[in-house]
Order: sequence, then structure tokens, then C-alpha cells
Amino acid sequence: MNRAAQFADLQMRMRACRACLNAGYYVESPAVTQGMVSAQVMTIGQAPGITEVEAARPFNAGSGSRLFQWLGEAGIKEDWFRSTQYMSSVTKCYPGRVAGGSGDRVPSRAEQMLCHPFLVEELALVAPKLVVPIGGLAIKLFFPKHLRLDEIIGTEIERDGRWIVPLPHPSGASRWHQIEANRPLIERAIRLIGKRFKSLNLL
Ligand code: SF4
Repeated sequence: MNRAAQFADLQMRMRACRACLNAGYYVESPAVTQGMVSAQVMTIGQAPGITEVEAARPFNAGSGSRLFQWLGEAGIKEDWFRSTQYMSSVTKCYPGRVAGGSGDRVPSRAEQMLCHPFLVEELALVAPKLVVPIGGLAIKLFFPKHLRLDEIIGTEIERDGRWIVPLPHPSGASRWHQIEANRPLIERAIRLIGKRFKSLNLL
């Protein structure tokens, strides 16, 4: 199977996956990802929300507007990014609302583990030169767990031959990016992303 066929097969297997449901977790299938196997940049969010499921694309609504506003500050256009790069998440299916509360449920550790082999496959197949983990759950995959967001956002690391530049989660429910004192850290992260896009000849 060539790379494009392997990618199509992976997408099909992710969309058909019912592992979390079979393990007794509520998730709303199918998996939501977007992009190309030829991508040089891959974003990794937490999990899709309901509007992402409805639109069948990651970061669709308010959080997507804010994410692409940030990326736009580096000169990155949303339509171009969605059609040429790759967007995925720690868990691929909508985990539903918090029981008795507001906001979306954070996928459990068990669900993250069930979905992790897909993420490993995506990273191996797409082989992005730049990974942008978005939000605490994705950031923890690459950075030591004891570090705080304000020690991580605005920094970059090189891991397995690729650059990792994290961003905070842009959803309205997330407070971190709304704290004025954190804005310079986000601006620094956006500059780092722009610098890496230029080094990849994407800008
Ligand atoms: S979140 Fe991942 S492991 Fe769970 S059902 Fe969806 S694709 Fe499968």
C-alpha cells in the first residue's frame, strides 16, 4: 500500500472505531480529523466538540475562530491551512457533555490510551516537521507533566526530528488564554509558529 492508501485506510479505521463505546464510555462517533497526508504541520487538540462533529472538521466553531485568529497573526490563512495541513486530536470522537455540568467532558485516561495508537500512526504516516499541541491534554504528550502552561506556552522543543510549539486551548470555556498577563506568551508562541512556517517555506 502506498502512503496515500495507508492514510485513507487509517482514516477509515478511525471513523469505524467504536473502541470507547465498546469499553462502556459515551462518545459520539465518528472520529473527526481533517487534512492531508502530505502535511508538514499537524495540530493536536483535545477532542472534537459537538459542532466539530456536525461540521465534520476540527476546531470548527468559536474555538476555531480564535485558533485561526492567532494563526492569522502569523500570516497563516485558515482555508489554506485546512486544505493542505493536518488537524487531529488526542481522542478523535466527541466525548459528550460533563454529567450534570456545563462544557464538554474531558476524555478519561482510559479513552486517551485507547485512542493513542491512532495518534502514533498519524504522526508516523504524516511525519509532520512541526507539531502544534493545543490545550493541556495534548501538551502533556510532549512536555513534562509538572510544568505549568505559563512555563510552556511561548517555548518550543525539538523531539524526534520535529519541532513542537504548543498553544493554549482557544475555547471560550478555557480561562488561561483570557488572562491578560498570558497574552505576551501567546504572542511569543505565534511568532515561533510563524518562524517555523517560514523555515518550512510555508509562508
Ligand atoms: S475516541 Fe478514538 S479510540 Fe475512542 S472510539 Fe473514537 S477513534 Fe476509537
